[in-house]
Amino acid sequence: METEKFSSSTQQQLNYNEIVYTHSKIVSCNGNHPVFGHPKIYLKFKSEQIVCPYCSKLFIYQKNPFS
Ligand SMILES: [Zn+2]
Repeated sequence: METEKFSSSTQQQLNYNEIVYTHSKIVSCNGNHPVFGHPKIYLKFKSEQIVCPYCSKLFIYQKNPFS
């Protein structure tokens, strides 16, 4: 009988908690969670992506489709 007690580690990936698409150059994040939340911070895009240092939420900047 084969036991795979080490197999779970091979499945680990770098998963972001959440992905948010925004048209704004500056986004705010407070974790949006009663347990894993954090003080509200503002993140300014330097590139097309930014990751919240508290909760690893991924923000993706999208240009305004009407421009
Ligand atoms: Zn956050």
